[in-house]
Amino acid sequence: MLLSRYLLPVMKETPADAQIVSHQLMLRAGLIRQTAAGIYAWLPLGLRVLENIARIVRREQDRAGAIELLMPTIQPADLWRQSGRYDAYGPEMLRFRDRHDREMLYGPTNEEMITALFRDCVKSYRDLPRTLYHIQWKFRDEVRPRFGVMRGREFLMKDAYSFDLDEEGGRASYDAQFTAYLRTFAALGLRAVPVRAPTGPIGGDLSHEFHILADTGESEVYYDAALDDVDLADPDAPARLRGLYAMEAEEHAKVTDCPVPADRLASRRGIEVGHIFFFGTKYSETMGLQVQAKDGSQLTPLMGSYGIGVSRLMGAIIEAGHDQQGIIWPDSVAPFDVGLINLRPDDAGCAAAAAGMQEKLEAAGRSVLHDDRDARPGEKFATMDLIGLPWQLTLGPKGLAAGTVELKRRATGEKHELSPESALARILG
Ligand code: ATP
Ligand code: MG
Repeated sequence: MLLSRYLLPVMKETPADAQIVSHQLMLRAGLIRQTAAGIYAWLPLGLRVLENIARIVRREQDRAGAIELLMPTIQPADLWRQSGRYDAYGPEMLRFRDRHDREMLYGPTNEEMITALFRDCVKSYRDLPRTLYHIQWKFRDEVRPRFGVMRGREFLMKDAYSFDLDEEGGRASYDAQFTAYLRTFAALGLRAVPVRAPTGPIGGDLSHEFHILADTGESEVYYDAALDDVDLADPDAPARLRGLYAMEAEEHAKVTDCPVPADRLASRRGIEVGHIFFFGTKYSETMGLQVQAKDGSQLTPLMGSYGIGVSRLMGAIIEAGHDQQGIIWPDSVAPFDVGLINLRPDDAGCAAAAAGMQEKLEAAGRSVLHDDRDARPGEKFATMDLIGLPWQLTLGPKGLAAGTVELKRRATGEKHELSPESALARILG
């Protein structure tokens, strides 16, 4: 991609209305633009990151055995009347009428719709267990949309729903999602802490929120410091993490006998990036979802729901990875793999060399943003640091005459003068 033909409206100044660093950087690096309070347009660079995050979420859902479908954003109010939530939901739900005066809403979540779909499609115990998911826009008319995509009104969520024949199966489906979540966040370069969440009337321990520890998080989390030592790559990590204490401050305050010795109790702020829940027959019962059991009787499936804030994750990733100069993307979600800087696009030799490097990288499956603009070197370097691509490859007439280009790793700042061949080999390595 040639930067001279791209849409990348970067800003030098920190926007005054953005309070946290991820929001500031998302605006400055030309990832998003606000179109109304809590509603954002995803600019080309931001969209690439959003799609990369969604791709990793999808890969881990598929690996966990969940099946993708796509439900609409707009839902009829009557569906929510079946579960009794239409009146209960409150002003966060955006409600409107169509031309036939039918009451509609923009879905804040999809329990009702998936339960109705499953009810219509599945009649026998043979078709269970199943976990279905989609990645779809949600709307919640948040009282205080803020921090950019962290608390938007329109936001992208992965929501999965499990259907099981019995409690044991329901727990197994929950565990599969729990593990998928840890894998997902690790693949995004994030360290997520599973925090036990209150389950309301159904009780049990089957609800967890996943928090990224960061000073700008909206919630405060108390946790066993031993969590910090768990190696996420360890196959036992899910079991170990679940065994260790972590609670949101509000819940922690209600605990009378904290199981963690005082000197091991840590507290930090957290960004909630996921929430999983096993709620049994709550929706299947109220919405009349039944399947025929093996013995011919009717059975009410047990359900769980599992959300990941896909768009919020982009903010969390930036909170966890940035410096004074800008964003530092993990390789897995970076909008382009390589930022190619041609210091002298007006020089025929440089232009030919840069075009050749771009072609070779792209042929090897790497995405390249090629800064071929007629701009000062300082501006080009600043833009590349701001947008945070993992590799920066710079070439100019002096280096080329000496047979070298410069390769910089954005995360460490490490720079090397290399032959063009070695630079390519290192990136492709
Ligand atoms: P919160 O407590 O932050 O409002 P929630 O409990 O309402 O979250 P869920 O209903 O569990 O959230 O939704 C699943 C996930 O969707 C959350 O873990 C979060 O990552 C994301 N999410 C929820 N609300 C928003 C929002 N307003 N903007 C962006 N992401 C959101
Ligand atoms: Mg909420």
